[in-house]
Amino acid sequence: MNTKILQPSDQNIQTCARVIQNGGVVAFPTETVYGLGADARNERAVREIFRVKGRPSDNPLIVHVYDAEQIEEVAQNISPAARKLMAQFMPGALTLVLEKKPNIPLCVTGGLSTVGVRMPSHPVCRSFLQACGVPVCAPSANTSTLPSPTAAAHVLRDLQGKIPYVLDGGNCEIGVESTILDMSGDTPRLLRAGGVSREALEKACGCRIENAAKSDRALCPGMKYKHYSPRANVLFSAYYSGMAEGIARCYDMLAQEGKRPVILCLDARVPAYGTRNVYAMGKDSGGYAHNLFASLRRADDDGFDTVIAEGVADTGVGEAIINRLVKSSGGQII
Ligand code: AMP
Ligand code: MG
Repeated sequence: MNTKILQPSDQNIQTCARVIQNGGVVAFPTETVYGLGADARNERAVREIFRVKGRPSDNPLIVHVYDAEQIEEVAQNISPAARKLMAQFMPGALTLVLEKKPNIPLCVTGGLSTVGVRMPSHPVCRSFLQACGVPVCAPSANTSTLPSPTAAAHVLRDLQGKIPYVLDGGNCEIGVESTILDMSGDTPRLLRAGGVSREALEKACGCRIENAAKSDRALCPGMKYKHYSPRANVLFSAYYSGMAEGIARCYDMLAQEGKRPVILCLDARVPAYGTRNVYAMGKDSGGYAHNLFASLRRADDDGFDTVIAEGVADTGVGEAIINRLVKSSGGQII
């Protein structure tokens, strides 16, 4: 199979939707990262996602819907608090974990009785989901363990020959995955930091939002796997006032050992690293998130063997950046 990147014309969107309706898989853009989609009600199609990605079968997929009506097709016993969040944050980068309806097979949810539901805001994605007319389950459209794809070319690099089409929606605006909030219990619990900030959710809920307890990690099976890792070794710096000096020292030590490091830093700190190799990540955390996964892939393409990533404040989307970099680095914090 030769995988084709399709520009998002009406006709091409219809072509991709037909693949889904016929039980196939295609990659599609969202505002967070690219997804690898299949009809969520079709077990055979869902299994193909796991095969193509090399994903462990107990790591659940998120069900993507076009509108609120479709949420009722996949979830039940939705609480008033969850409905309030749906009204405020959908479409958007928020996934709610809700009690699943029986028509969603257990292979979608990693065997859980709950389902993660999201309504993306990306216009191409919305046209695609509308054309599909069925709920589309999807993980990120990368090979398992590699950085998530934020451009059609990233998907092609990982999945060439394994899927018929990548629907091209340009570079993903947010660049990190959705925030996952468990609304299936008595109190909201954060399962994964992402595109919607904890602060925004706390404001909407009128209460503090705690992380799922360590003992509840089984509720979010995806979190136990190796993730977001390029070939290069990733080192992640804590965020503190002397960060640039610390990173520069680490860089020089590695360079002396014959390594080829590159630093991920905010634009304002580029001069602080002098002639060292840097990727400017943007003016703030939003830019950093937008460029994060693309930069991890670019480091491999440019032949760097070590990435040293600046830390960021753990507010707003910063929390998601820290989460991804901790995982990407395998916890190698400098
Ligand atoms: P990905 O964004 O590629 O990692 O895939 C979706 C992620 O959503 C999984 O790794 C899970 O962590 C999470 N997820 C999906 N459905 C559920 C669910 N029912 N309960 C908890 N987490 C879920
Ligand atoms: Mg993923």
